[in-house]
Amino acid sequence: MTETPAGGDVRLVGISKTYGTSFTAVHPLDLTVPQGTFFALLGASGCGKTTTLRMIAGLEDPTTGSVLLGDQDVTRLPPHKRPVNTVFQSYALFPHLTIHENIAFGLRRRGIRSVGKQVAEMLDLVQLGDFARRRPHQLSGGQQQRVAVARALINHPQVLLLDEPLGALDLKLRRQMQLELKRIQTEVGITFVHVTHDQEEAMAMADTVAVMNGGRVEQLGDPTELYETPRTAFVANFLGTSNLIDAETVSGAGGEVAVTAGGTVLRLPADRCATAPRSGDRLLVGIRPEKISLVHADDAATVPTGRNRFAGTVAAASFLGVSTQYLIDSPAGRKLEVYVQNIERDTRLTPGAPVVLHWNPAHTFALDPEPQSPDAPAPEAPGTDPAPQVPAATGDSA
Ligand code: ATP
Repeated sequence: MTETPAGGDVRLVGISKTYGTSFTAVHPLDLTVPQGTFFALLGASGCGKTTTLRMIAGLEDPTTGSVLLGDQDVTRLPPHKRPVNTVFQSYALFPHLTIHENIAFGLRRRGIRSVGKQVAEMLDLVQLGDFARRRPHQLSGGQQQRVAVARALINHPQVLLLDEPLGALDLKLRRQMQLELKRIQTEVGITFVHVTHDQEEAMAMADTVAVMNGGRVEQLGDPTELYETPRTAFVANFLGTSNLIDAETVSGAGGEVAVTAGGTVLRLPADRCATAPRSGDRLLVGIRPEKISLVHADDAATVPTGRNRFAGTVAAASFLGVSTQYLIDSPAGRKLEVYVQNIERDTRLTPGAPVVLHWNPAHTFALDPEPQSPDAPAPEAPGTDPAPQVPAATGDSA
């Protein structure tokens, strides 16, 4: 199928949902999903992503705001009058009908008799041409989900909504189906809006990901941008893992910011700071575990100049096959995570070993510090950390 349906962007304008008198599941939200893109709503259970999807589908009435598809305001239209179809986690196929008839269902309901060509096209699209005569129970979970996608797409919706469609599949099949769904979306060119709590799934498929937290979109962007430049601690840790280190700004000049953390000076690009830092500001410096290199302290002289670096001690090492995960205690932070690919393993890097962590300053990002809850314990005073048995590091020592 090469036809691109006429339509337009999905636009949510000030849309919100309050249940009862006081519980707000979705706070007023403005969001545009460009036509023909794969868009993911990503977040933990209860963050409001399904409610948002259901408001697009017409299955939930928004408390405020509007849903627009292209120029059409569909806010008051019932689900079946919207040019939208939904695929749910439960495939909801008709067990007594063949795969062919399951896919033909939407056309037959609209009184279309000659369905053979379109059903064949759909079967080809989801690569189930040989399964037309089977019944759903004779297919695997992944195959049944492909039938559900074909059954929705045969109606030529302007937008396909997918509510955790791969949630019932085992991990390996889920990874295969992610590629499959991405291929199908690219081929049909229809807007897909996908709801998932699985960050890898969102990143593998979506052109744009909206990370939701507590009924709000915390950050929206393409997967690389979200991963490389998270703007909040929630996003930094919901998409993968981040080491977040308490630091204080020393200076910012020429597009570069210098901060101190645990007595060490670190540098980072000014445009990777969530807000423009001023001297004396506290912030959280972030670095992804896979961006950090680790050397034994005896080899500290091999670390190239210009790198951000820390001295530390190996607290734990876990061999994970493709990589080894180290936890490092340092004056700047405890249990900093480092992932080292298992190419040539340094067998000296065992618990207790003195090490130097180093990374490209360009990979560092900075976030505003988390607001302190009044009940939170006071931060430890510098120098009271009992773990690191290393000399205080500076930007060029170690
Ligand atoms: P999950 O991944 O678990 O489905 P979600 O992010 O999709 O979570 P929603 O289903 O959108 O979350 O629900 C958001 C919040 O709204 C949750 O706290 C949920 O309990 C609440 N909620 C959802 N539906 C209703 C309802 N009909 N009445 C009251 N509260 C509801």
